[in-house]
Formats: sequence, structure tokens, C-alpha cells
Amino acid sequence: MNHAKNLRDIICGRLCRFYRPDKPEQEFCRGLTFLIQWSTNYPYLINLLEKASQSEPSGYPYTRLLDQILCRHCPFFADDCDFVDARVAGPKVSCGGYHALVSLLHLNLITEENLLTAAALCQLH
Ligand code: SF4
Repeated sequence: MNHAKNLRDIICGRLCRFYRPDKPEQEFCRGLTFLIQWSTNYPYLINLLEKASQSEPSGYPYTRLLDQILCRHCPFFADDCDFVDARVAGPKVSCGGYHALVSLLHLNLITEENLLTAAALCQLH
């Protein structure tokens, strides 16, 4: 199976409430594109994502880190993401890529240091 499609099936198909499988040309969030870039350098990440995708969201304790690594670089950051929009009140739900990274950190499958190193590498490409 195609590498990017495999990741999209896990991250968007299983973890993202906003994913529309009937719209194949849709723009993807930074969560997915970051994980695709990272897994190109680190193919075992896909096995870790399989494990992480089975866990329920455990809150959002890594907001500052993930804001810096994902959201600031996301095409939806400025206008289209309620999760990061301070004007939107009430319970919020992140995209699938953000959820995947929270689960990977929460389950100790990766560390914050791994993530920062990967982010530095991904920004080189
Ligand atoms: S939470 Fe929103 S801004 Fe952050 S990566 Fe996901 S879609 Fe983009």
C-alpha cells in the first residue's frame, strides 16, 4: 500500500473527526503532512501510530509544544481550525495528526525530544 495513503487511513480515517473521505482533493492539515515527512525518515513510526490510534484522547497536555511544531505551520491555523481559535468556546477537538502526537507522547512511544528533533529535520525538507 502507498505510504502516504497508509498514514492517511490511520491518522485521518481513524482519528480525525473532520476528515471527509468523499473529498479526495481536500487540503490536509500540518498534523498529517508532518507525520508523513517524519515517517519517511523513520518508517517504524507507522507501527507506533498503529498502537497510538487505538487509544482514546487523554486531554491536550502538550499544547505549547504542538502549537509550535504543528499548528503555527498549518494551512487551517488562521481561519479554519476551531481547536486553535481562542474565540471559539466550549469543548474542542483537535485534528487527527494532533491527536496522534498526543497519544504517542502520552503512551511514551515517543519523547518530546524525539518530536523536536523530527520537527527540526522536517523543516529542512
Ligand atoms: S489542531 Fe488545527 S491548526 Fe493544529 S495541526 Fe490540527 S488542524 Fe492544524
